Amino acid sequence: MLFSEQVGLMMSQSSFEQIFIVVFSISILKFIIILCLPYFIFWKWFSKYFWNQKIQQIPRTEPCVSMEIRYSILTLFIQSLFLTALVWGSQLNYFKLYPGFGTQGVASEIVGFFTYFILYDTYFYWSHRFLHQGWFYKNIHIIHHQSLNPTPFASYSFHPIETVITIFYMLPFVFFVPISYEMFFVLLVLTDVGNLVGHLGYEFLPRKVYHSKLGGWLTTPTHHNMHHQFSKSNFGLYWRGWDKYFKTLHVKTESEFYRIKDQKDSVSSPAS
Ligand SMILES: [Zn+2]
Ligand SMILES: [Zn+2]
Repeated sequence: MLFSEQVGLMMSQSSFEQIFIVVFSISILKFIIILCLPYFIFWKWFSKYFWNQKIQQIPRTEPCVSMEIRYSILTLFIQSLFLTALVWGSQLNYFKLYPGFGTQGVASEIVGFFTYFILYDTYFYWSHRFLHQGWFYKNIHIIHHQSLNPTPFASYSFHPIETVITIFYMLPFVFFVPISYEMFFVLLVLTDVGNLVGHLGYEFLPRKVYHSKLGGWLTTPTHHNMHHQFSKSNFGLYWRGWDKYFKTLHVKTESEFYRIKDQKDSVSSPAS
């Protein structure tokens, strides 16, 4: 039996609890591969090797990292419940997730792919600005902003209410856009990797890509790292256009990128 057929069978015949066990197991794997591994590689084992590409060359305090870990685990649990509800709802035909990549046409998968990122990026910018308003910032989003120098664990260090807000865009997506479980899985992995890159703490994007037509419109790790440092600018996720058009782009975003590139070229001796 093909893998996609197995996925289809599992997704169409499973109870809420069975789906949750699968989804939460994947979340645990995600925690290990997308959060723990990059943390140990870039912040512990090989930090000296990558030091000259570090955005903020200051040490992190352990209590901050353990806070990020605690909130990330809580976020993964809430996300798992939410994703289980989407899969379960699709079994009952409330949502349009279906088994088998391409069974409703490859074109529909491609449309779904781009729709997802346009919707997510737009939703992220505006919901993020909303979370910076008064009460919401002081009581909810402040958890994420405790990480002034974010590590990979900060990717999901959110107040539970923010976790629900950040994944809410998926509801209209799976309600209106037909997409296979396989493509949806790929989208979620890319979303996680995107989050990780923004919170890795290192700027790896080459100058050449930054200078390209596409690179000029995309955010870089420095972009979101500066949001954690200064909090009142750089709200965008992937597309820099939102911050440019709505005048929320930090004036030093570009110079900071070049500062780190120069730092990489000039600093050869790692600090401790
Ligand atoms: Zn962040
Ligand atoms: Zn923020």
